Amino acid sequence: MKIVIIGNGIAGQTIAEEIRKHNSNHEIAIISKEPYHYYSRIFLPSFLIGEKSLDKLILHSDEWYKKRNIAVKLNKQIDQIDRVNKKLHVIEDDTWLNYDKLVIATGSNARKLPFGNPEVNGVFTLRNVADADIIRKYIDENNVKKVLIMGGGLLGIELGFHLRDLQLNITICEIAPYLLPRQLDRGTSKLLQKYLESKNLEILCDVAVEKILGNENRKVSGVKLKNGMERKFDLILQQMGIIPEISLAQKSKLQTERGIVVNEYLQTSDPDIYAVGDCVQFNGKIWGIIPASREQSKLAAEHILELNPEPYQGTFWNTRLKIAGIKLTCLGTPNEDEEKETTLIESVNEEKYICRKVQIENNQIKSAILLGPGKDNFFVKNLGKKVDLDEVKRKVNE
Ligand SMILES: Cc1cc2nc3c(=O)[nH]c(=O)nc-3n(C[C@H](O)[C@H](O)[C@H](O)COP(=O)(O)OP(=O)(O)OC[C@H]3O[C@@H](n4cnc5c(N)ncnc54)[C@H](O)[C@@H]3O)c2cc1C
Repeated sequence: MKIVIIGNGIAGQTIAEEIRKHNSNHEIAIISKEPYHYYSRIFLPSFLIGEKSLDKLILHSDEWYKKRNIAVKLNKQIDQIDRVNKKLHVIEDDTWLNYDKLVIATGSNARKLPFGNPEVNGVFTLRNVADADIIRKYIDENNVKKVLIMGGGLLGIELGFHLRDLQLNITICEIAPYLLPRQLDRGTSKLLQKYLESKNLEILCDVAVEKILGNENRKVSGVKLKNGMERKFDLILQQMGIIPEISLAQKSKLQTERGIVVNEYLQTSDPDIYAVGDCVQFNGKIWGIIPASREQSKLAAEHILELNPEPYQGTFWNTRLKIAGIKLTCLGTPNEDEEKETTLIESVNEEKYICRKVQIENNQIKSAILLGPGKDNFFVKNLGKKVDLDEVKRKVNE
C-alpha cells in the first residue's frame, strides 16, 4: 500500500512514525511545501530572537528518514487531488503522484485582521521559520523599538516575553476583557497580567484595533484603536488564533466547514482520504494544539492499518505557557454552565502568584488552572478521570 501524507508538521510527522512503528512494508511519502524537515513551532519565538539556531529546531536528519524508509519531498506543494484516479499534482515538478491512502495534514495559517493595510509594511504573523526570518530582518533593518502584539493568547504572550530580550518595548493587546480568555477565569488572568506587567510588558485588554497607520515610507507607524486613541508602534505582530488550511480539500470537493470535516476515525468524506492536525474539524470543533495532532495521527495511523482503534472523541485541552519565571498549565475546559453541578477546589496566594483551581464534575476532573510553581502531573494524568476528592485537595495545596 502507498500512503502519501501532505504536510510535515507534527501531524504529518506523527502519522508517518506511527505507521512505520506498526508496519515495515507500506510505502510512505511525506510532501511539504516548507524547505525543512519537521521542526516544532513551539521554538519559533526562541529562534526569532537568536536563542535557538535552525539546526537545533529541526528534529531529524535525512538519515533518520532514510533509515525508516520514509520518503520526504521538501519544497513541493500539492494543488490538486484527483480522487477518481487516486493521484496528486505536485506544482513544482508538474508531475502526478499515486496514492492508495492519502493523509491531509496541511495545518493552519495565522488569523489576520480582515481590514489590514496592504499599503503598509511592518505587519507580520509568526507561523513558520520563513516568517521568523522576515520579522527578524525587519527588526534589525528598521530601528524597531515599539512592538504591538495583537492577541493575548499563549503565543502572543510567549512571543512578547521573548522579544523583550531584543530590548524592545512590547505591548500586547487583547480584544477580550482579560488575557487567555479561553483558558483562564478572570481572577487568574489578572494575576498573570500583574506578573507580566512586573516584567515590563504592557497589557491592554478589552481593546480592539480599528486601523493600521503608516508613514510616508509606507512603513507601519501605529494603530488607531476602536476607543479613538492612537498609539505609535514600529512593528505589529498579529497572533490572533488560527484558520485551518482547507483550500486543497475544498478544491477537491471534500466536505469542509471551518476545517476539513472528519469522522471518529479521522476519515474525510472520502474514506481513502484522512485529515489530521490543525486542519481538522471534528464534532464542530477545531483544536490547534499539539496534543490533538498527536492523538488524531496515532488513531488515524491505526485505522489505516486496520488495527481497530477506539473511536476519536476529541482531545482534552492541555496547554502550557512557556516563559521564564512562572509556570502555567491549563487543562480541560472550565464548565460555565450554571445548571451543571461542579465543585471548585482551589488554593490562591496572590502575593506569590499562585492560583490553583480544579473543577470537579461527577467526581471527575473537568478542568484545572495551575498557575505557580506547584506540580501539574497528577492533574495531567487524571484529567477527565474519576478521582478521590481528598487527594485532589492535597495535590491542589502541594
Ligand atoms: C509560534 C507557535 C508556537 C506554538 N506553541 C504551541 C504550544 O506551546 N503548544 C501547543 O500545543 N501548540 C502550539 N502551537 C500550535 C502547534 O504548533 C500546532 O497545533 C501544530 O503545528 C499543528 O500541526 P500540523 O501538523 O497540523 O500543522 P502545521 O504545523 O501547520 O504543518 C502543516 C504543514 O503542511 C504544509 N502544507 C500546507 N499545505 C500544503 C500543500 N498544499 N502542499 C504541501 N505542503 C503543505 C505547511 O507548509 C506546513 O509545513 C504553536 C504554534 C506556533 C505558530
